[in-house]
Amino acid sequence: MLVVMKNDATEAQVQAVIQEIESLGYRGIPMPGAQRTAVCIIGNKGMVEDSRLLALDGVKETIRVTKPYKLVSKETHPEPTIIAIGDVKIGGDKPVIMAGPCAVESEEQALTIARLVKECGALVFRGGAFKPRTSPYSFQGLGEEGLKILERVRKETGLLIVTEAIDHTNIDIVEKYADIIQIGARNMHNYSLLRRAGHTAKPILLKRGFAATIEELLMSAEYIMSEGNTQVILCERGIRTFSDSTRNTLDLSAIPSIKEVSHLPIVVDPSHAAGRREYVIPLSRGAIAVGADGLLVEVHHDPRHALSDGMQSLYPEQFGELMKAIKHPYY
Ligand code: PEP
Ligand code: MN
Repeated sequence: MLVVMKNDATEAQVQAVIQEIESLGYRGIPMPGAQRTAVCIIGNKGMVEDSRLLALDGVKETIRVTKPYKLVSKETHPEPTIIAIGDVKIGGDKPVIMAGPCAVESEEQALTIARLVKECGALVFRGGAFKPRTSPYSFQGLGEEGLKILERVRKETGLLIVTEAIDHTNIDIVEKYADIIQIGARNMHNYSLLRRAGHTAKPILLKRGFAATIEELLMSAEYIMSEGNTQVILCERGIRTFSDSTRNTLDLSAIPSIKEVSHLPIVVDPSHAAGRREYVIPLSRGAIAVGADGLLVEVHHDPRHALSDGMQSLYPEQFGELMKAIKHPYY
């Protein structure tokens, strides 16, 4: 249930509503909006008896939230969420492009790619220091050394850094270096990591699992938000289907369907969806055309020698073409 405050309700009145909700045995989470604040009640199993809440000063009305995800739902927060990190706004008017290698391999590799993607207009540099690989024998990332390289990339280029945390203890170190913490497809159901991500001050980029429904993705975002972190960016990165022409199948319909029910921004990763660099530009155009708030794209200056995901990494010239192509996604 949502307790909607009057436009002129004071902070003290909002706090009194939260206290009353707590005295009923639930939790109240304030959701400030452009026009008014609403307080979302979570932790209730069934209907909440709202007469005591309606009697409080500053309360306009109560509304039942019908979706299982409460904080993620547009019912709770009708305006789109814009996540501002410095001057970069994710979920605003312009798509934000995040680009870089699959993994940080060396300082020279990361800096070379960062300079190139920045020149083409990327605002965020991607690169994994901790890599959750399907095989235990594959390159697992440089670890903290990789995070230190990412810090140098930010210092030298001014690009923001998105990098992955792979479990609920590893996030302690990742949050010290990252501007945005990525939770990968393999970890979308890792509830201890999701809960821990709810306690960081950094925005979270939450990728959809290979076999996750939209509702499951939104419930994973709800785990993060229910612990207090409202800065969640969703990411569609392709799902498993019987189609065998691409590594995964990019579900572009996820973008309008999520936008219908949720206020959270959503970006698209065409690289892990396609698995081949040849498809990344057309899929990116499609993603922007259907309303994605940004892209997460793999780029490598020497993809033939990349330690991971070389086949799907764009050459820097192709990334330049992509940046031009998405200005006019419809033709
Ligand atoms: C990645 O972004 O490098 C990655 C591992 O992606 P995913 O979790 O979508 O497979
Ligand atoms: Mn990758």
